Amino acid sequence: MEKACKGWETLNADNFRDLNPGDRVLMGPGPSDVPARTLQAIAAPCIGHLDPYFLAIMNETQILLRALFQTDNELTIPVSGTGSAGMETCFVNLVEPGDEVAVCVNGVFGTRMADIVKRIGGKLIRIDAEWGTAVDPEAVRQAIKGKAPKVIAVVHAETSTGVCQPLDDLARISHDAGALFLVDAVTSLGGMPVPIDELKIDAVYSGTQKCISGPPGLSPVTFGPAAVKAMERRETPVVSWYLDLSMVRDYWGSERKYHHTAPINMIYGLREALRLIAEEGLSNRHARHRLNHRALVAGIEAMGLAMLVPEAIRLPMLNAVRIPQGVDDLTVRKALLKDYGIEIGGGLGQFAGKVWRIGLMGQSCRPKNVFLLLAALETVLSAQGYRSQPGALAAAAAVYDEAC
Ligand SMILES: *Cc1c(COP(=O)(O)O)cnc(C)c1O
Repeated sequence: MEKACKGWETLNADNFRDLNPGDRVLMGPGPSDVPARTLQAIAAPCIGHLDPYFLAIMNETQILLRALFQTDNELTIPVSGTGSAGMETCFVNLVEPGDEVAVCVNGVFGTRMADIVKRIGGKLIRIDAEWGTAVDPEAVRQAIKGKAPKVIAVVHAETSTGVCQPLDDLARISHDAGALFLVDAVTSLGGMPVPIDELKIDAVYSGTQKCISGPPGLSPVTFGPAAVKAMERRETPVVSWYLDLSMVRDYWGSERKYHHTAPINMIYGLREALRLIAEEGLSNRHARHRLNHRALVAGIEAMGLAMLVPEAIRLPMLNAVRIPQGVDDLTVRKALLKDYGIEIGGGLGQFAGKVWRIGLMGQSCRPKNVFLLLAALETVLSAQGYRSQPGALAAAAAVYDEAC
């Protein structure tokens, strides 16, 4: 008689239904809506990671990634893992135990960078700025005075607050100090310019599920010449075997040496997402993000709601809106999801229960979603007894009209 496998006598396959997540409008801090073409690409046959067809797909993906990053950096690859894996890749490859590393912290993701630096034995120089504000370059200059940080790291688009960090001064300060400049572009890439070669940003990581509108699971990373040199001059091995770029690059480079099995179908998906960006044009895509952001803000403010972040440092793709007095955060978000299929994000850390985070990322960044969100929010708020001022849709429409 066949030996029973533990637990399987009681397992009834009929209890597990076919997948059917239903329709959603993803307007939170990521993931964003994934276009049908990208989902279809993922469903293409899985082939070997050394199959000549797949190797050609890898090359094309790298060409498209360099175009998106606006860089000539040879070492430009999608790391197998989400944005946080890209973050970790940058730090573990550039930092050795005992190295001084300056990290700017004005939200969740700066905090995560600081955590990683400590875990890998770096000497953290932490520069804090109030959440909801940008980091003052002068504070960085002061913090590194008399020190020799190997890396200065900052988040370009702080998704937890909606703040856009200006990079020019920080790039200059880093290079004047002889440090590598490391930038988190998880949320900015694909939605606004990330001037990598222009500012000589040495290392950048991103993620696929924000303004690139792929599913989560890959983290595009690019290393410039100085970062590659720093990697090659290391005295100690990279603390992570999986994320060690000196080995990973031998697979993505001409040697095609096996390191780990590439997530084949995810790379199909990324390539398709990048092809869609190439068809749209990068500057058109950036302009689309700015326009829909302006229309959303016009509608939000017309309703009588307030934005968290001052206009000059607002991100286009992540809009933090203050929750009005007497309105319950979770009730509103639950109603948006249940009644309209709309997902928005809640606040994090000190902004929990205080703000909503409305994403306009990649495929989700469209006029119809702006109107849908404004109308739905108005209705849901009214059910909560909050009377918003009329005219939100007209205010948004006026922004689009003016742009025509
Ligand atoms: C989402 C995000 C990350 C982390 O990405 P995961 O894909 O969730 O691991 C890092 N930095 C920023 C700015 C992000 O928005």
